[in-house]
Amino acid sequence: MRPLVITLVGAVAACSPPITIPDGTALTPRGSTGRAVEVCVLMQERSVRARAMGVAEASLAPWDYGIASILVRHPSGLVVIDPAFGVNVAKDLLLGPKLFALAMGPARDKRPLVEVMRAANVDPAEVRVALATHVHWDHVGALGDVPNAKVLLARAELEWARTLSRSLDEGVMPHHLARAKARLARYDFTGPARDGFPASFDVFGDGAIVAVPLPGHTPGSTAFFVSLPDGRQALFTGDTSWTMRGVEAPAHKNPLARLDHDVERTGQALGLLHALHASRPDVLIIPAHDAAALEQLPPCGGAKSW
Ligand SMILES: [Zn+2]
Repeated sequence: MRPLVITLVGAVAACSPPITIPDGTALTPRGSTGRAVEVCVLMQERSVRARAMGVAEASLAPWDYGIASILVRHPSGLVVIDPAFGVNVAKDLLLGPKLFALAMGPARDKRPLVEVMRAANVDPAEVRVALATHVHWDHVGALGDVPNAKVLLARAELEWARTLSRSLDEGVMPHHLARAKARLARYDFTGPARDGFPASFDVFGDGAIVAVPLPGHTPGSTAFFVSLPDGRQALFTGDTSWTMRGVEAPAHKNPLARLDHDVERTGQALGLLHALHASRPDVLIIPAHDAAALEQLPPCGGAKSW
């Protein structure tokens, strides 16, 4: 990236809304971690970009970029978090302006979720529940390809999605949700506060997967705690930050590329994740597009396919 662009990013970054970091003492660890479940990664795109594209930092460092879905093996059945690319991903890329296609990169670099699942000997028809950190096109593109999955979305996210109608509308492609219309269900955060989050929703009631609200990037953005077999908790944080660097700094996304619905609330969400990371290093925070963070978990099928 040219120095001029770096300077521009740095200058605009200085104008980003503040990031409020809460007092770490509020982030009291939860007593029990819930039922342990096996988790693996279904990587659908991986490349190296410039960090400055993803974080509001004047940096020439690389960004290990990825787009992936998370597979959880729960006793109730298979769960997918963020079913990313549908079988029609190449057509999806044509639905936006040229700049969108340019930013997302070519279809040849993207593998549909079901292709990656089959390569890992996982039958897409066996997925029973689909969850999403948010409904941007690259997080729910494959909802139609897991035909037996009940799709659970946070109420605020589903209600927001229903207000969108253009083929690419604020990062959402409404046809992705339409393909799963009969299977959509909404949930509310009726469970207790935990780890600095004001409320929660325990998906199976056993602590295996617990949703917590993280609004900002979209109105109903959600993070998911998942109890890993080694006793740790993974926390899938969607696009609040695209990178772990953004959580560690903390720093907003590159303001020239970010698509945050409410950037001030995104700043609050980033501050919370930053404080959680500082006070609870045992929690494995995994931003959705940080391939290095994703690769702390095993690839589904046992072998890297990227
Ligand atoms: Zn997003």
